[in-house]
Amino acid sequence: MRILSEPEIYIVGRQSINDAEVQRFLTDHETSWQTDSEIGSELVVELAGRVCYLSFGDKQFRKTNKDYVGNLINQGHGSVLEHAVWDLLITGVSRSLTHELVRHRAGTGISQLSQRYVDESTADFIEPAVIAGDPETHTIWLHAVEASHQAYISLVEKLASRVQQQFPDLPRTQRMKMAREAARSVLPNATETKLLFSANARALRWIITLRGTDGAEPEIRKLAVKLCRLMQREAPHLFDDFEIVRLNDGTEGVHATHYKV
Ligand SMILES: Cc1cc2nc3c(=O)[nH]c(=O)nc-3n(C[C@H](O)[C@H](O)[C@H](O)COP(=O)(O)OP(=O)(O)OC[C@H]3O[C@@H](n4cnc5c(N)ncnc54)[C@H](O)[C@@H]3O)c2cc1C
Repeated sequence: MRILSEPEIYIVGRQSINDAEVQRFLTDHETSWQTDSEIGSELVVELAGRVCYLSFGDKQFRKTNKDYVGNLINQGHGSVLEHAVWDLLITGVSRSLTHELVRHRAGTGISQLSQRYVDESTADFIEPAVIAGDPETHTIWLHAVEASHQAYISLVEKLASRVQQQFPDLPRTQRMKMAREAARSVLPNATETKLLFSANARALRWIITLRGTDGAEPEIRKLAVKLCRLMQREAPHLFDDFEIVRLNDGTEGVHATHYKV
């Protein structure tokens, strides 16, 4: 059992653009497109905006991607940001955090580790910083987590043997699922989980906005700050207007200059 405090985000998929097909479209429409980004997500957002107004060739007023995408964000034309999608594998976060994260319904796709199928006898746990910072609260927390974890392990063992007696013909996977799905009821919110979280730029901007503020829960705020930094590297023109700030409690948060796009 490990105690973790830092979320990890693996960018396992990102938006790309098919240059040849874009060129074929431009040729078929006897026009051209001048831009300066080489980042798929930035390009697809610009392309989506330009398709709305057929602003290619001599109808192209703004010449840089930063200028074009920045104007879309300023205008609140957020729907075009939905064309840029990322797949993020998130680990080192608690079930409390993901309970909040999965509330973001619009523009997201979620696949989360199943506690019915996966054995949690080797689970890790996330300790809130405010608890970890004080030896007394840390000890109370650790004892509670260890006791819950031990109860889980004992319950799985006893339930697995009972299920085997009751349903001897069931495959082992099914029997263990029946034991684990009941035993997990004693696992704490602190239990570490993993999820593949896919989201478009508009949804990611909203998540960073809501979850990066000082009113957000500290663990998810830490994730939002990390996500903000990553996305600013991934697609600066889509995320550069967010500012990472130091909050009163000394931790980092995010200030959104465009609240909802
Ligand atoms: C600080 C904080 C405290 C919170 N406390 C609580 C709490 O105590 N209890 C609780 O239950 N939740 C709580 N939440 C969760 C919150 O209520 C939202 O469920 C969550 O933030 C997702 O936000 P959303 O619905 O705007 O986002 P998304 O689901 O990401 O949707 C994005 C936007 O799409 C639009 N949209 C999405 N679905 C619909 C729809 N069905 N109909 C119309 N428009 C839609 C809305 O404009 C919405 O803002 C809290 C959130 C924060 C940030």
